[in-house]
Amino acid sequence: MKGGERKNYDVIIIGGGPAGLTAGLYTSRSRLNTLLIEIGLFGGQMTTTDLVENYPGFPQGITGDELSRLMEEQARRFGLEVVSQNVVKVKLEGDKKAVQTEESSYRCEALIICTGTEYRKLGVPGEKEFAGKGVSYCATCDGAFFRDSKIILVGGGDSALTEALYLTKFVKELTIVHRRDALRATRIYQERVFTNPKIKLLWNSAIQEIKGDSVIRSVIIKNVKTGQVAEHPTEGVFLFVGLSPRTQFAKGLVQMDEGGNIVTDENCQTSVKGIFAAGDCRKKLVRQIATAVGDGATAAFAAEKYLEVKE
Ligand SMILES: Cc1cc2nc3c(=O)[nH]c(=O)nc-3n(C[C@H](O)[C@H](O)[C@H](O)COP(=O)(O)OP(=O)(O)OC[C@H]3O[C@@H](n4cnc5c(N)ncnc54)[C@H](O)[C@@H]3O)c2cc1C
Repeated sequence: MKGGERKNYDVIIIGGGPAGLTAGLYTSRSRLNTLLIEIGLFGGQMTTTDLVENYPGFPQGITGDELSRLMEEQARRFGLEVVSQNVVKVKLEGDKKAVQTEESSYRCEALIICTGTEYRKLGVPGEKEFAGKGVSYCATCDGAFFRDSKIILVGGGDSALTEALYLTKFVKELTIVHRRDALRATRIYQERVFTNPKIKLLWNSAIQEIKGDSVIRSVIIKNVKTGQVAEHPTEGVFLFVGLSPRTQFAKGLVQMDEGGNIVTDENCQTSVKGIFAAGDCRKKLVRQIATAVGDGATAAFAAEKYLEVKE
């Protein structure tokens, strides 16, 4: 696009995970001129998931990659336009919304934010230095590098446990380091973890430092109950300590809670008319593919109604 020239759309969707792809399917099938802007892979977090067992319609489960591919194909079938760019800012221009990416800017009548979440960092010495060199936030991306290794995994929720189970395909031994004396994850994942001979659990424990030279050699772990500190040799550290919403670019534009989750009503409408939020980036109880897809459909429908009333 040449300097200053901007393309206008009925709807712009930011983010091409399950929420954004569903919203795109609905709006483009309703013949609304729609642009979807995605900086990473279509499918979002689904692309980092080995097997999805709880998305209806696939009784034997489906790989995250395949589900992503199918959702993208279905959304594109109805003429959804897509660009691979990073949205850095959204501004209001009267009742229009100006969406600024690193390369271009676009304008739309209705905006649907579907930017999901990113991995929260542990914030200990060594984490940054060894990121990509033994510290990982994605088992499906990096698991194969740790064949026959002894590794540490931090976390106690669903993501942590599903990733731990997946990693046992590769590693010799995996120790889950968890702050409390009980896991948060769904029972079925807990049962699988407790009966897996490759997995050990270290309760009431927290990593204080990740150490090594050109590769990771050990971690310093503190027992948060007794205060005892010990060094544990390890070849890798997988971190699953929660997720933060990717909503920085919309700060000051729409209402958010203290964690940066976008506040919406039940129709995915934000505090600004014509701006909707769907999926994991909004304040909600359950963050799953099924709920992201439901949000995407709701936000698209609400956006369509908003455009009808406006005309
Ligand atoms: C390891 C793991 C395993 C999981 N397993 C399951 C499971 O088995 N079943 C289940 O139901 N759920 C599972 N989930 C949760 C599920 O993947 C998410 O709830 C779902 O993907 C959320 O969809 P979303 O569209 O809201 O966001 P996301 O999937 O996070 O997609 C958001 C997209 O927005 C893009 N984006 C972000 N910011 C920008 C920007 N500024 N500009 C352009 N693009 C941007 C991102 O690149 C991303 O592709 C799992 C999650 C993880 C991390």
